[in-house]
Amino acid sequence: MTSNDLIDLVTETKKQLEHLRVLGVEGIQVSTVQQPRVETAPTPMPTPSEPLSSLFGDLTPAPVKLTKSTETFEQIHAEIGDCTRCPLHQQRTHIVHTEGNRKARLMFVGEAPGADEDIQARPFVGRAGQLLTKIIEAIGMKREEVLIGNVNRCRPPGNRTPTIEEASVCKPYLLREIAVVQPEVIVVLGNTAMKNLLDTREGITRLRGQFQDYKGIKVMPTFHPAYLLRDPSKKRETWEDLKKVRDYLDTHRSSDR
Ligand code: SF4
Repeated sequence: MTSNDLIDLVTETKKQLEHLRVLGVEGIQVSTVQQPRVETAPTPMPTPSEPLSSLFGDLTPAPVKLTKSTETFEQIHAEIGDCTRCPLHQQRTHIVHTEGNRKARLMFVGEAPGADEDIQARPFVGRAGQLLTKIIEAIGMKREEVLIGNVNRCRPPGNRTPTIEEASVCKPYLLREIAVVQPEVIVVLGNTAMKNLLDTREGITRLRGQFQDYKGIKVMPTFHPAYLLRDPSKKRETWEDLKKVRDYLDTHRSSDR
């Protein structure tokens, strides 16, 4: 811009300001020029001289292992007593406790007693129980060698499925028995027993035949014998599941039993 251009600009500006003054304008707002914002890089965090895992230990949660219990079945059953802790006590004849070898390598867990079990106060003694005995013998074991129990110890009316609440009240006694015996493998029989023991929402059809884990104990889900009586075509899959159990026990023979 030349000096003449500058003089013209000042003169014109004066005229405009005088015009505004005549119109009553007493002042004008002058905007300030914003300085461009300078982006700065974030201050880097100081790098630890050691990897995080050595500062805080292994960041993956350690698997929970079952602690061996020193209590006895008799103590557990005495504590259960003439139990009325859930509604299933109302129509039962007998409480059906876990029975069998208390040093068993293999345990079977069902859902709840049926009519025969309720009368005899023993688990798996009806038609389904007789089929379970044959299954045990088919893998080269005797019924007396294994442990057999249920999540719920009282028969549900009409053999209905125990509710989640009923199962959650009774299950701790079963878990205490498992902690006493610490079997190497638990076979869970049917959907309800599997869901209760493993705390899973998966169904038996999806998980059967695949070893699961309960605090370091191998858990094999398979069909309930009562279901096999209704649908014998499922016996073949159950046999495949039990062969895996037999093979595991054959190849992991522990020295302290
Ligand atoms: S099912 Fe278990 S918790 Fe319920 S009344 Fe029977 S023993 Fe008690």
